[in-house]
Amino acid sequence: MKVLIASSEIVPFAKTGGLADVCGALAKELSKLGAEVSLCLPLYRSVLEGNFEIEPILEDLLIELGHYKLTADIYKGHLGNIDVFFVRKDEFYDRTYLYATPKGDYFDNAQRFIFFSKAVISLSKALNIKWDIIHCNDWQTAIIPVILKIFYADHPLFKDTKTIFTIHNLGYQGVFPKDSFSLTSLPPHLFSIDGLEFWGNMNLLKGGIIFSDLITTVSPTYAKEIQTEGFGFGLDGVLRAHAHKLIGILNGVDYSEWDPERDTYIAANYSKRDISGKSRCKKDLLDEFHLHTRLAERPLIGMITRLAAQKGIDLLIDAIDEIIEKEVGLVILGKGEKRYEDALRSISSRFKGKIGIRIDFDNGLAHRIEAGSDMFLIPSLYEPCGLNQMYSLKYGTLPIVYNTGGLADSIIEVDEDKGEGTGFKFYNYSKSGLCEAIDKAIRCFLNKGLWQRLIIQAMSCDFSWGRSAKEYLKIYQMLLSSKSPQ
Ligand code: ADP
Repeated sequence: MKVLIASSEIVPFAKTGGLADVCGALAKELSKLGAEVSLCLPLYRSVLEGNFEIEPILEDLLIELGHYKLTADIYKGHLGNIDVFFVRKDEFYDRTYLYATPKGDYFDNAQRFIFFSKAVISLSKALNIKWDIIHCNDWQTAIIPVILKIFYADHPLFKDTKTIFTIHNLGYQGVFPKDSFSLTSLPPHLFSIDGLEFWGNMNLLKGGIIFSDLITTVSPTYAKEIQTEGFGFGLDGVLRAHAHKLIGILNGVDYSEWDPERDTYIAANYSKRDISGKSRCKKDLLDEFHLHTRLAERPLIGMITRLAAQKGIDLLIDAIDEIIEKEVGLVILGKGEKRYEDALRSISSRFKGKIGIRIDFDNGLAHRIEAGSDMFLIPSLYEPCGLNQMYSLKYGTLPIVYNTGGLADSIIEVDEDKGEGTGFKFYNYSKSGLCEAIDKAIRCFLNKGLWQRLIIQAMSCDFSWGRSAKEYLKIYQMLLSSKSPQ
């Protein structure tokens, strides 16, 4: 089976978030399972400067963007035994950031990613590669299934190719002014309610939903949620209309990076066979943030997050006094919107010795917080999959989460009587809902025997990528045999 994964970011070449991790890890696992996988992404500055071995294989590939005739050069590199195609167009991709500067989005993102999407098709033609599956990801590559359906349905190279479109976060849709539609070269009738039109603008993600053979998203619960008004960002109706081809597959975790037994960032290694190192990690974390030593005997709650509305920072700020009254410690690592950074700084000065806050993006500290905390807080309003709760389980740090998306799918509510479960969920998105979940977590923490048992259960969970990759392979196979995925 020949599979091409097209994405605007892929680890280790370029990354701003989970999308990059997913594409890199999925490709490697699919390849282990026997699929012949290739990857394709833009040749960004991070690739040019990253010491990767790449070589040019095609020059001056013609790409039409509306009335403009442009060219791209195609480079090839490798990720293990996986071929990686890079689309080189320095005017578009040799920039400091992938999508946006701190001042906002690049003005030409529609050009940059429609160009990239067209280049994916053109390079396949130029190299005469017949893909069984083209797997597209998020709005940046959403136009590929549309172009294939409209222009290539009878083309010998593409007529049997199936397209999969994965939505990693419906909050980002690639919405551009109507004028940008001409860049797609699609017939004008597709700028309509049944096509890419969205409240007078062009919506690229909508095209991917309508024209792909199968849509996936990154957890089963999120697949259901995005079909509702509350989570649909205006596309819930379109998703409901295409629900027959929408499924959710939970992302996996890279345990070579996130495993307390091998972690090189933490004060002491530990495993479920011997968790004694975890208390050293906690002491180390309390010291690093100058928190009261008496917190060694009280629950320490960690949080690592982008500081964005999606992550529930408003609820946290609203509930902070009540949480701290419960005699727990709190360690927060986050970076993002200035209004939240300022609010957290002021909280940290109000609760010296009880709350430690670091406004930064720091991978090493993220590992130390996972290892040193007793509990991990994720009050996200919505969470397509979420990775931190799965890391927390591996580190024996019990998650307290809002019951949404991938958080709902990966955490099992603790049953205090049976001594079973892996975390604490709140079902009512409110200060009282959150505080009740924290109260339950504290009750369990104070019962030492129960807590040990819960830690071991959490550390025994397996969210490795192999399981997710098998599910993707299964749906590829179903598509190729043209059976319905449901
Ligand atoms: P999202 O992709 O919506 O930000 P995920 O939970 O899927 O959320 O993935 C976020 C990843 O980024 C996790 O690996 C998390 O540990 C990491 N991360 C987020 N914020 C920070 C930060 N300030 N410092 C270090 N790592 C962070």
